[in-house]
Amino acid sequence: MSERIFIGVAWPYANGPLHLGHITGAYLPADVFARYHRLKGNDVLMVSGSDQHGAPITIRAEQESTTPQEVASKYHQQFTDCWKKLSISFDLFTTTGTSNHTEVTHEMFLTLLDKGHIYKDKMLQAYCPKCQRFLPDRYLEGTCPYCGFTEARGDECDQCGKPLSPSELKELHCYLCSTTPRFESSEHFFLRLSSFQDKLTDWVKEQTHWRRNVLSTTWKFLDEGLKDRAITRDLAWGVTVPQPGFERKRIYVWFEAAIGYLSASKEWAKSRGDNNAWQAFWQQDTKSFYFIGKDNIFFHTLMWPATLMGYGGLHLPYDVPANEFLTIEGRKLSTSRGWAIWLHDYLERYEPDALRYTLVANMPDTGDSDFSWREFLRRNNNELVATYGNLAHRVLTFVHRNFDGVVPAAGELDERSQRLLHEAEATLEVVDKLLYRCEFKAAVKEAMSLAQGANRYLDEQAPWKTFKTDRETTAKSVYTVLSVLAVLSTVFYPFLPFSSERLYSFLGFNGSVKDGGWRVQFLPPGQKLRQPQPLFVKLDEDIVAYETDRLGLSSEGNGF
Ligand SMILES: [Zn+2]
Ligand SMILES: [Zn+2]
Repeated sequence: MSERIFIGVAWPYANGPLHLGHITGAYLPADVFARYHRLKGNDVLMVSGSDQHGAPITIRAEQESTTPQEVASKYHQQFTDCWKKLSISFDLFTTTGTSNHTEVTHEMFLTLLDKGHIYKDKMLQAYCPKCQRFLPDRYLEGTCPYCGFTEARGDECDQCGKPLSPSELKELHCYLCSTTPRFESSEHFFLRLSSFQDKLTDWVKEQTHWRRNVLSTTWKFLDEGLKDRAITRDLAWGVTVPQPGFERKRIYVWFEAAIGYLSASKEWAKSRGDNNAWQAFWQQDTKSFYFIGKDNIFFHTLMWPATLMGYGGLHLPYDVPANEFLTIEGRKLSTSRGWAIWLHDYLERYEPDALRYTLVANMPDTGDSDFSWREFLRRNNNELVATYGNLAHRVLTFVHRNFDGVVPAAGELDERSQRLLHEAEATLEVVDKLLYRCEFKAAVKEAMSLAQGANRYLDEQAPWKTFKTDRETTAKSVYTVLSVLAVLSTVFYPFLPFSSERLYSFLGFNGSVKDGGWRVQFLPPGQKLRQPQPLFVKLDEDIVAYETDRLGLSSEGNGF
């Protein structure tokens, strides 16, 4: 029976380019998951968009003497381009700058206000007398009380990673002009998060299928006791507050970006000409998954569920498979120090499938993991090229040379060949189970291990030798490997969409792997194969030194 799956993916801040940490943290696992479910015939809606609001974007605009809108548009374009090249298959990738998003946010805000889940109160807010403006936390700088870092921001220390509040910082000053701010009272709206403590606790208790890191982070916040949260800011850029007297304030970016999952679903429905199509994914039988990095756990397991509980009638998350962090060559990723690999830069020189494979094979799903160019080279050359690609190329060219490029009739298969085909069927089942549970790293390993098994079989059978004396046995072994290749094009499809589609076509199938579904497709004898090309490109040793030397040189980020 087919299932309905909603996939919300973290909204990237449109204030800088995407790097491998973003990709492995949220976008790639979400895409693998979406492709897998679509291949299974399930009904999938995967949405996200660029987050146009928040202080990081206004700061970037001020640094570059341009407008926040221009910064946001520039990076939105770059994101869209990257999704296309890496084949991240969103059903909709929009932005938080649409009028639809503002409408949905206002409607949700007013409903929560009406039901008493939002209230007005005063809070002390840093004000810069020189800049004549209130300063959001990101606009404040000072010395970290924990590690002594002198460029810690009002919300977090970039050196030791501790979350901070402005009052904790020593030598507090305005990030823009270095003036010492004064604290003034300012009126804001607050989400009554504390009143959801019991309901959230009961709900989280039921989520035994969540990852251990997600549960432990969530319990940490619950055990400390949830505090009410200001959901408006003294800022001129963002979604307006639909209340008189708040014309110069905006809704806090974290509160409205999460609502983006819902507004994007509504936008997707409108774009299909069926305004109510979103309801199936939010109100009917559906499992909702949210793919995010571990720094966003609080917002997705507590704040967003509280918002949804308060609003009523919409699905809470079923799972939030947050990933841990990726280090680069053993060092913590830092955009301000240029210690990052930019996605658009990677895509200019290398194949998308090689990156997708390496990142999934090293995915930080249960602990932090590392990306190194040496490892990338090894995965590409030894696993993709020498194991999988070579298997396909050897057999396909052999059939073209010796069987006129036609799938031979095999007759009854011997025990050894049947054993390999059973292994292929078993791989399909195991990968199915693993992907269903979001265990991506283990799943891709199983797929590659089938390619290794098929290589061993091929070496044992040695059709290039038996061909001269025993055409019948040769036909059996060739037929068997061709069938395994068909299975490989299926199990690898969620991870390696580009090479899977090519292999599927070389095997003589028409259409997309997606049309074949998640099952063993035996090749009909007589099926005409297409002329094969290598599935992967072997890379030169030199790229390791070249790429490692470039690290730390290009600082395209701005410290966020
Ligand atoms: Zn620190
Ligand atoms: Zn200032």
